[in-house]
Amino acid sequence: MRELSIYIHIPFCVRKCLYCDFLSFPVQEGQRTERISSYGNLLKREIEEAADRYGDYQVVSVFWGGGTPSLLPAETLAGIMETLYGSYRVVADAEITIEANPGTVTADGLRGYITAGINRISIGLQSTDDEELTRIGRIHDYHTFLETYELARAAGFRNINIDLMAALPGQSVSSYRKTLERAAALKPEHISAYSLILEEGTPLYERQDDYRFPTEEEDREMYLLTDAFLSACGYHRYEISNYALDGYECRHNKVYWQRGHYAGFGLGAASMVENVRWSNPATFGEYEAYTAGLGHGDGDTDGDGDADEDGRQQEHTQKAGSYPARQVLTREEQMEEFMFLGLRMMCGVSPAEFEKLFGRRIEDVYGDVLCRLYRQELLVRVSDRIRLTARGIDVSNRVMAEFLLD
Ligand code: SF4
Repeated sequence: MRELSIYIHIPFCVRKCLYCDFLSFPVQEGQRTERISSYGNLLKREIEEAADRYGDYQVVSVFWGGGTPSLLPAETLAGIMETLYGSYRVVADAEITIEANPGTVTADGLRGYITAGINRISIGLQSTDDEELTRIGRIHDYHTFLETYELARAAGFRNINIDLMAALPGQSVSSYRKTLERAAALKPEHISAYSLILEEGTPLYERQDDYRFPTEEEDREMYLLTDAFLSACGYHRYEISNYALDGYECRHNKVYWQRGHYAGFGLGAASMVENVRWSNPATFGEYEAYTAGLGHGDGDTDGDGDADEDGRQQEHTQKAGSYPARQVLTREEQMEEFMFLGLRMMCGVSPAEFEKLFGRRIEDVYGDVLCRLYRQELLVRVSDRIRLTARGIDVSNRVMAEFLLD
């Protein structure tokens, strides 16, 4: 049976962080219950109506992302999980993650999540330096994070991720080291460490001249420090920005990098199943109209998209209430993704798998690129895999760009 991962988007936050360009909206405390409850009903409808499409799949992971999913009362989340369990085949050992922000959970709420089937929690810490947290507009300080972390452990979570960020305004290599030390000392099963990207249009982007950002050298030093320090603490790097204790790699994220099938539910959520990609409407009005139209025989309900016989890409016009526009990936796009997503993983890509999937030898498609990158010692072939070298990881964006086909 084919495997499916499910992503559920919760687009609400307490307030907007200054660097954030994700699809999320601040919601006042007084309006939260009502808005979350009506959004939860739309989600249930979408999840239930899509179930027929996935009759041949078993769900191996579920990821509640956002936004701030931990704003959901446990009973609301449990109701949606019930819909999921009732209409999909969810494997007994499915990895079911919720993203949480410090200060947004209670002991009862966390226990409720566990009862509802959540078995992994990902907590957004970013930094243990309170001034750095204030500069990027996080809602919490380090102490609040510690309380949330301890509550999660006490509630029974045995699989915890901590999210960290480097290259923050005013951050130094030594303050970043302290963040790493404090995070690793808690012994979470998983640590993600990304560099801040200044996105145009965010308040931090507008105010960037007010701060001293780490220089390129300092940024690089933090990057190298992350791997060296976390390795020494027993974490292995399995993807460019992700580290885990043995047995705790994130199953859900690996599905993205390995081009597995995933269905996204909720506002703006992206899906990719059998090389067909689509995204849900990104405004509440359109999403509501879309979910209201489900089950009324409108649109392509088989989930296969509408590829022509040779798989040429087709774009379809989206109309409110209809199924979202679908993009059928061409063979070239599939090969590109296979390479640049697969190479993000430290285990790299398998030439044999490439040939099995695409009916062509990897050397026949990428021979020149591979030779060049081997020569530059950015890629290496080790027995039956091709993977990035340490230098290649350093300039991974440049390496990935080489795999785009004209
Ligand atoms: S908590 Fe996450 S999604 Fe919400 S505003 Fe901050 S960065 Fe954005």
